[in-house]
Amino acid sequence: MSTTAPKGSPHPGDLLGIDDVLSDEEKAIRATVRQVCERVVDPYIADWFERGELPAARELAKEFGQVGLLGMHLTGYGCAGMSAVDYGLACLELEASDSGIRSLVSVQGSLAMFAIWRWGTEEQKQQWLPRLAAGEAIGCFGLTEPDHGSDPGSMRTRARKDGTDWVLNGAKMWITNGSIADVAVVWANAGEEHGGIRGFVVPTDTPGFSAPEIKHKMSLRASVTSELVLDGVRLPADAVFPEVRGLKGPLSCLNEARYGIVWGALGAARSCLESARTYSIERQQFGRPIASFQLTQAKLANMAVELANGQLLALHLGRRKDAGTLRHEQVSVGKYNNITKSIEICRTARTILGANGISLEYPVMRHANNLESVLTYEGTAEMHTLVVGQVLTGIAAFR
Ligand code: FAD
Repeated sequence: MSTTAPKGSPHPGDLLGIDDVLSDEEKAIRATVRQVCERVVDPYIADWFERGELPAARELAKEFGQVGLLGMHLTGYGCAGMSAVDYGLACLELEASDSGIRSLVSVQGSLAMFAIWRWGTEEQKQQWLPRLAAGEAIGCFGLTEPDHGSDPGSMRTRARKDGTDWVLNGAKMWITNGSIADVAVVWANAGEEHGGIRGFVVPTDTPGFSAPEIKHKMSLRASVTSELVLDGVRLPADAVFPEVRGLKGPLSCLNEARYGIVWGALGAARSCLESARTYSIERQQFGRPIASFQLTQAKLANMAVELANGQLLALHLGRRKDAGTLRHEQVSVGKYNNITKSIEICRTARTILGANGISLEYPVMRHANNLESVLTYEGTAEMHTLVVGQVLTGIAAFR
C-alpha cells in the first residue's frame, strides 16, 4: 500500500492553489515571517505555553519590528505601509506558530498603533508610532471591563475634566500586553458634555496606572493578559484623541484587528492539519497507517476543504480591503466563519492524534485551546452572527 501522496498533488494546506494567485512579493513576505517565526518562536513556544509566560515579549517585539511587522499595514511614522493581504499573510504565519504571538502583533499594530495613527494628534503620532513600529515600545488597548465585554457602550470607566487636565478612574479587564505596555490606549466615558466615550493615550508610568497580570489561563498562555487599574490617572489636555467620539473610535480599531484574525485563525488550523496528516501516515493501528482508514481520510478531507474555503474567504476580504471596498459585516462573516471552522479543524486534528493529541509534544491541543480565546475576543462568535443577522433583517437583536 502506498503512503506517499500522488506526484504533483497540492500542499495539504493549500488544496485550491491559493499560492498561484499570490504575487511574488506576497509570497516573499510570507516566507520572511515564517523564517522569523521558525527562528525566534517555534523552538520555544511549547515551553512558554506550558509555563504560562511570554518571557521574551520585548525581544520578540524588536525582532518583529526589524522586519516591519508592527503596524505593517499603516503608512508613515516608521510603519512598513504594506497591503492588507500582506498583513493577513503575516498574521497567518504568526498564528501557525501560536495565537498568542499573533495577538502580540495584532494588539500592537491593529489596536494600539492603529488607534493612534487613525485618531491621534500629530504630536501623539510622532511621540509613539516610530517606537511602536520598531518594537522599542509596546502598546495595549483597553476597552473591555470586568462587567462590560460585548456591550462596551455601558462601560463604567470615567474621564473627568479637572481644569485643563483629564482624570481617569475605572478598570479594564483581559487586556493583551497590559503589564508589559509602555503606552495604553484607554477608552473612557467622559460624560455627555464632553462627547461620551473618548480615547486617551496613557503612558503606563503615569501615577495611578497599574496592570496586574491575569494568570491561570488555559488558553493564550504564551500571551500577557492583564487588568488595567486606573486610579485617579491624571493626564494633560492633549492626551485625548481630539475628534472621535462614541463607540466609532474603538470599533474602527477592532475592525482592523478582526480582519487579521480572519487570516490568523487559519494559521493555527493549517498547523493542526499538517500535524494530523503526518501523524496519520506514520501511525499504524491494525497493521496499517490510520491514514488508510476511510474515517480518517474523511476527517482530513473535511479539514483541508474548510481550510481552503477559509483561505479563499480571507483573500477575497483582503483584496476588498486593499481596494477600499470592505464592509464591516463582511469582516464579521470572515471572523465568524474562519474562527469557528478553524476550531473544528484543530479539534478534529486532536482526535486523529489520539492520546498524543493532548500532549504538548504536538502543537494541536495548544492551538485548539488558544482558539477558544480567539473565538471570544474582538467580538464573540455570537455577536458576529448577530451583526450578519442585522444586515439580513434590518433588526438589531443585540440592543
Ligand atoms: P460577555 O460579553 O459577558 O458575553 C458572554 C456570552 O454572552 C458570550 O457567549 C456572548 O456572545 C454572549 N452574549 C452577550 N451579549 C449577547 C447578546 N446580545 N446576544 C447573544 N449573546 C450574547 N479586550 C480589550 O479591550 N483589549 C484586549 O487587548 C483584549 N484582549 C483579550 C485577550 C484574551 C485572552 C481574552 C480572552 C479577551 C480579551 N479581551 C480584550 C476581551 C474580549 O474582547 C471580551 O472577552 C469579549 O468582547 C467578550 O466579552 P466578555 O468576555 O465580557 O463576554
